[in-house]
Amino acid sequence: MKKNILLASLILSLTGLFAQNKPPTSIIFMIGDGMGLSQISAGMYYNGNKTSLENFPFVGLSKTHSSNSLVTDSAASGTAMACGIKTLNGVIGIGTKNEYAKSILEISKEKGYQTGLISTSSIVHATPASFYANVISRREYEKIAFQLSTSVVDYFIGGGKKHFTQRKDSRNLIKEMVDYDIVSSVSKFDSSDSKKIGHFTNNDEPKRILDGRLSLDIAVNSILNKLDRDQKPFFLMIEGSQIDWGGHANELNYVVSEFKDFDAAIQTVLDYTIKNPNTLVVVTADHETGGLSLLKGDLKTMSPEGVFSTLGHTGTMVPVFSKGPSASDFSGIYDNTAIFTKMLAVLNQ
Ligand code: MG
Ligand code: ZN
Repeated sequence: MKKNILLASLILSLTGLFAQNKPPTSIIFMIGDGMGLSQISAGMYYNGNKTSLENFPFVGLSKTHSSNSLVTDSAASGTAMACGIKTLNGVIGIGTKNEYAKSILEISKEKGYQTGLISTSSIVHATPASFYANVISRREYEKIAFQLSTSVVDYFIGGGKKHFTQRKDSRNLIKEMVDYDIVSSVSKFDSSDSKKIGHFTNNDEPKRILDGRLSLDIAVNSILNKLDRDQKPFFLMIEGSQIDWGGHANELNYVVSEFKDFDAAIQTVLDYTIKNPNTLVVVTADHETGGLSLLKGDLKTMSPEGVFSTLGHTGTMVPVFSKGPSASDFSGIYDNTAIFTKMLAVLNQ
């Protein structure tokens, strides 16, 4: 009897030891800007009735409203997911009582994580900025650029170089970013052995994928290779920015092509997690754009026609897809701020 108790307590303490030694989980957080269910459905049908999102075992729904509007913008919803607070439309990283919020990326750095950001817009645009900036207006691009230049982001790929080099204060932030290797191409990104690397894909906003932009999965692959050099865990945010712009333009072609680009990047991430299973992948949207409806289409060729009901955003809930450790936490219906809380819980394990 005594022996059994001893044995049981030995097993308990051993499992406790193992639990403590569990390596920290890396997080890859992917945002399809403006990617509601209709955008996913249209993209899936035009992609031969399949999407990489079908590989995710858990699906949830996120309420996207901001603190002052039923219909959010990308600044308020980016802040909700990055920092866990509802704020006013247009505001990044600052709450309704003027409090500065820390982002999940910044918290992950404090815990010894490596960090990365990829965007198919400029890197100072509202969605990526929500992970490192605190500004009253999303249009303060030069201020946001300065905040990136002094941030804890280790690797970034995105557009918007001009906000660093052609400034009202005549500073050249790229020259000031001495701890970064700012490279002029993806192949130079790949060959750099710096611990902090940035690549501006464009001086201003990147082109549409239809006009020949570099595909997102190439950038994803490059940053994952860098993050993989160290044994350290990482937090990586990847944005498919222009699904939203297709919605604003009310062009189904634009929406579908940008979704396909994002979908291929999701597949690249999923392929990575096969070799690195201790990685949580969460894919969601900040809001829906265009009020897109698929009212008819050709079943044989799987080509729906799209009808848009607005040039702006809508207040519909957006889906959240998750895979990997703690992925089941992301099923159910919750506020977009809970995405931050759920990721924070993973960092705190
Ligand atoms: Mg965006
Ligand atoms: Zn938008």
